[in-house]
Amino acid sequence: MLKSKKAVVTGSTSGIGLAIARQLASNGADVVINGFGDAAEIERTRAAIESEFGVRAHYVGADLSKGEATRQFIEDAVKALGGIDILVNNAGIQYTALVEDFPTDRWDAVIALNLSAVFHGSAAALPHMKKQGWGRIINVASAHGHVASVEKSAYVAAKHGVMGLTKVIALETAGQGITCNAICPGWVRTALVERQIEALAQKKGISIEEATRELLSEKQPSLEFVTPEQLGQAAVFLSSDAASQMTGAHLTMDGGWTAR
Ligand code: NAD
Repeated sequence: MLKSKKAVVTGSTSGIGLAIARQLASNGADVVINGFGDAAEIERTRAAIESEFGVRAHYVGADLSKGEATRQFIEDAVKALGGIDILVNNAGIQYTALVEDFPTDRWDAVIALNLSAVFHGSAAALPHMKKQGWGRIINVASAHGHVASVEKSAYVAAKHGVMGLTKVIALETAGQGITCNAICPGWVRTALVERQIEALAQKKGISIEEATRELLSEKQPSLEFVTPEQLGQAAVFLSSDAASQMTGAHLTMDGGWTAR
């Protein structure tokens, strides 16, 4: 379905980003993966995409919490792939504290990666997409783009910002073969959430299993995690021609979190 398409997925050495990159590749797209991690493991991840799906896969490392580095990353990815058709802005971090205790450097770091990198990456990719008259920008936002939780001021502010930015890019590109949408997951069991489960277990003196049940039942009525693969399939759909008139949308996949 995506044969000969060129896709860049930020923060794709693990978790949701990796699953999205693999789903795009399994549908025929060449991909650039990005993110931190052990060099040998990243190389294994990259090589597995090539061998399993018969596409080209490149790793382009960059710290996307810096604006200029993010713009340069897009140009490096374009060079590696020979163009860019699909940009998935996925890289993100979490930090939790009450507003009055939230360290300024943590606020800056969350906003830089979860919001500003979406702006810089999109700004660098759009001229390429406009020139060819085709493009897909997919922003991995969150249920926290719709609603809030305590102790997540920077994350919630950033994700709400991504929702607005998604709509602006959709309007600025409407009718030019380009769409921009957000996917809004609820709880997905990745490293980012594993750390929150461990923190909850420790705080309440309960087991990991109990903390997992509590985490889900507080927010996610389905009581099941969204899987990274399901999010990858949503990205494939948003990249397809069937979704060409879907733009500026916030696609919720949260087991009912934001329905109540
Ligand atoms: P993860 O921690 O498993 O993966 C994050 C990825 O981003 C990794 O590849 C990491 O190396 C990379 N990364 C971190 N800092 C970076 C930087 N400065 N520059 C470049 N890459 C960097 O997390 P995840 O759960 O897969 O999260 C992916 C996205 O999904 C995030 O935007 C997150 O907010 C969002 N999200 C996650 C959940 C969830 O429940 N896990 C829910 C809603 C939204």
